[in-house]
Amino acid sequence: MKKLLSTVLAIIMVVSMIIPVSAASAKELNFKDRHTFAEYESTLKNLSKDYSEITELFSLGTTWRENNIWCLKITNKAIDDSKKTGIAVIANIHGGEQEGGESALYSAIALCKNSTTKEIKEILDGYIIYIVPVMNPDGYIQSFVLNNRPNLHPTDKNGDGVSFSDPYTDINGDGFISTVYKGKKDTKIEDRIEIGMESPDWDKNGKLGDDPRSSGIDLNRTFEYNYGRYDIETDPEVNKDSKSVIGQDATRTNGKGKAAGMEPEVKAIQRFFAKYPVDAMTSVHTGQQSVLYPWCYRAYDPNNELDSQIPHMKEVSEKLAKIYTDYTGRNFYAKQSHSDYPTSAEMIDYTYGRHRINSYTIEVYGPGMSDPNSEDIFERSLWNNKLPETKWQFYDQKQIKNELKLDPKALGLKDGEGLWFEADSWSQMSGKAPEDQDVMVEGFYKVLVELIKTEEPGGNNNYVLPEYLK
Ligand SMILES: [Zn+2]
Repeated sequence: MKKLLSTVLAIIMVVSMIIPVSAASAKELNFKDRHTFAEYESTLKNLSKDYSEITELFSLGTTWRENNIWCLKITNKAIDDSKKTGIAVIANIHGGEQEGGESALYSAIALCKNSTTKEIKEILDGYIIYIVPVMNPDGYIQSFVLNNRPNLHPTDKNGDGVSFSDPYTDINGDGFISTVYKGKKDTKIEDRIEIGMESPDWDKNGKLGDDPRSSGIDLNRTFEYNYGRYDIETDPEVNKDSKSVIGQDATRTNGKGKAAGMEPEVKAIQRFFAKYPVDAMTSVHTGQQSVLYPWCYRAYDPNNELDSQIPHMKEVSEKLAKIYTDYTGRNFYAKQSHSDYPTSAEMIDYTYGRHRINSYTIEVYGPGMSDPNSEDIFERSLWNNKLPETKWQFYDQKQIKNELKLDPKALGLKDGEGLWFEADSWSQMSGKAPEDQDVMVEGFYKVLVELIKTEEPGGNNNYVLPEYLK
């Protein structure tokens, strides 16, 4: 199905490898750091002004909290769009997976900064690159308080008729949101009883943090394709090679919300793919280091016509994984998403299933130390960074009253009991960049440039727009 790259393009690739152009100084942002959503917005606006001949910034829609889902279109505007191939990068559907957003933002900057090099000029002549660095800005912003996967669809977990009425709040001033346990000063860790999450008990019901700013909806289970599907094909008991890496609760259809394609962020992305023809796309994530290709909901079936592009996507995924591994020195693997763990209604099943777009979930960062001897490819493919150790802090009843301003009786504490605050690595890393994030984002940029080249330049190759989406 795919034609070989033209000889001309191959020669240009070789020349550009001999004369490398560094994008490390792109703009003023330091990619060793984490950036706020406001910094993303100002950076994207600056790019659209500074590189107006190749960029256009527009909003795909707004979220529950009225934040914009920004899309930066990068292409040579002097050439007719109908003569170019579309490529889309959609990052940060999961709010807390901020390294994905950083990778996409860095790539937008690098494509602009390098736009006069032979390699990137050729790309901008033959392709249109659409970059959405933050698809879930509400979840992204909330993740500076505590890593938060869902969006902020108003939710009333404590049932008091007010949404988000007991949000997580740092009440002991250590900069982290802790899980709160009751117990005595000498109670062993395993015997401490979890009672909630750090908050001043805003709703005064004696339960800490029981209505946080999080909807519980996993946007990547709500696309309008095989929505809510759970049957024999997606059952890991039947597919023994399937293995959950983040726990059964978070996989398959869990967190699917109330209906398919109804969350504003998902609606915006589905509308985008109906309006702009693209031939390849990537949904950028973190949590592991891999390139995953469809299907998420079932295994590959060579006899099914719908699966005809899967061998191509498998080949591309393996190539991209190798590029990232070679550049970052961290292992990165390729797999069919379903054999990584089965889910349904993910973005890549939607884009491939509905539009025949070659679709890839790229996961750029697996936190923690790799175990090179593990039999599990996931364990062998982590970033190799030391995560902060869990911090425990005990408060007796006097401190609970005076320092935390909480009422020990309302919390049901008995004589001699106090509160244990646990700030684990997840909590301590919220809103912070892991070491070598600058290497990570540059690695993703290199992967993206190669991903673009796996599609023929100059026009529509495989995208279709079904009648029912017109
Ligand atoms: Zn994710």
